[in-house]
Amino acid sequence: MRKALVAGNWKMYMTRIQAIELLKGLRQELGGKTYQTQVVLAPPFTALETVAREIQGSGWGLAAQNGFWEKEGAFTGEISFPMLAELGCSMVILGHSERRHFFGEKDEWVRRKLEAALASGLTPILCVGETLEQRDQAQTLEVVRRQLQEALGGLQEEEAKEFVVAYEPVWAIGTGRTATPSQAQEVHAMIRQWLGERFSLARADATRILYGGSVKPENIADLMACPDIDGALVGGASLKADSFAAIVRLGKD
Ligand code: PGA
Repeated sequence: MRKALVAGNWKMYMTRIQAIELLKGLRQELGGKTYQTQVVLAPPFTALETVAREIQGSGWGLAAQNGFWEKEGAFTGEISFPMLAELGCSMVILGHSERRHFFGEKDEWVRRKLEAALASGLTPILCVGETLEQRDQAQTLEVVRRQLQEALGGLQEEEAKEFVVAYEPVWAIGTGRTATPSQAQEVHAMIRQWLGERFSLARADATRILYGGSVKPENIADLMACPDIDGALVGGASLKADSFAAIVRLGKD
């Protein structure tokens, strides 16, 4: 049985002071009760240490939004996975479409980052997803399969203790347009099948596959009702305590 995972991708939002406020709000919304969902927060680099301190003892996890594959060196502006692990990160988002499209991140870089993150003991959240043009041309499954192959194709199963896959259709990110549960389920089922063929049925069965793209309190329950959707990678709605808390509760109460 896979434990549901809800990860908040704060992107380039939240000063440290705003982060503390948001966490206070989240504690008020969620405090005192235990939920079945694993909660992970991905603040910008500048707020990682603050958030790590604030969530100590809460059971919530900390993720970075990116990282670089070398351990150290003359790479101005980059941050390595051991540095992120030292700050308390247990996960890292990799290959997000904003990195691929705005910063020219290539599949090859995503693979190198993924392998380096695993070697540093971090759990990667590998993002895949098609553009609207690709969907309109019925290329969705092919594009996602290629992204999986490029990032995970060379990996030995024993090299990866755990990784998470996030299916994020580019046309659904920050647009208010969510994939319908059946559109998402179709891709999630293909991803799980791919994992089974590439690694093993046990790995396919154990791997969490998140949906991302305009997830809101109003659509999380229907998405979670799909057999291969194991949680959500949430952008905009993770920046407000009430909406993120409602998603963590999986829209149930
Ligand atoms: P969104 O972003 O929820 O604002 O659509 C999701 C993401 O980019 O991870």
